[in-house]
Amino acid sequence: MSIQENYNYIKSQLPDHVQLVAVSKTHPVSAIQEVYDLGQRVFGENKVQEVLEKYPLLPKDIQWHLIGHLQTNKVKYIAEFVDTIQSVDSERLLLEINKEAVKYNRTIKVLLQVKIAEEESKFGLEIDEAKALFQQYLNDEFPHIEITGLMGMATFTDNEQQIRKEFSVLKNLFDELNKQKSLETLSMGMSDDFPVAIECGANSVRVGSAIFGRRDYTK
Ligand SMILES: *Cc1c(COP(=O)(O)O)cnc(C)c1O
Repeated sequence: MSIQENYNYIKSQLPDHVQLVAVSKTHPVSAIQEVYDLGQRVFGENKVQEVLEKYPLLPKDIQWHLIGHLQTNKVKYIAEFVDTIQSVDSERLLLEINKEAVKYNRTIKVLLQVKIAEEESKFGLEIDEAKALFQQYLNDEFPHIEITGLMGMATFTDNEQQIRKEFSVLKNLFDELNKQKSLETLSMGMSDDFPVAIECGANSVRVGSAIFGRRDYTK
């Protein structure tokens, strides 16, 4: 299947209220341009270095989402142009993003990344940590940040019951925080599990390989 066929297929699977973040990590600028030309404007990258290389070569109305673990010392490289940082997993990082946003006189949108998977390796806040940070946010401790929602990744497993359970945990937290301050985005679901994520309440999905094809990490 071509990128165009993949993209059209994925779009056909998404209800109107669900945003698609096209995850372009490891794929060349030419492939991103191809998907851009089909109308896609929101792209996700997981490495600062990679988005810094691609950003200058592509149209300026792309909304770049950083979806991978972000070290505080790298925030300064993306603060001017990043649309949303989906992978916020510490107070330190929030403070740093806020500081850099001040320099560019802008507000940076972020999602709190919450750990919902069983696997030890996944980054993210515990539920209680996410609640506590959200309270600090409500207390105006990060005035140049807008927390627009939550992001999470389910365990990599064939067990759909488990995936459903994990997504539902995040949906419940989303509903709880949303009562305190209205949130836009519940980002969960990737190529293999986005239909389940949408059933569980996701309104933004991060899809990479199902659009661009398999990633070749040997290049
Ligand atoms: C790579 C990645 C995705 C996309 O994964 P696919 O399985 O290729 O769709 C989504 N979210 C995050 C955080 C990622 O790192």
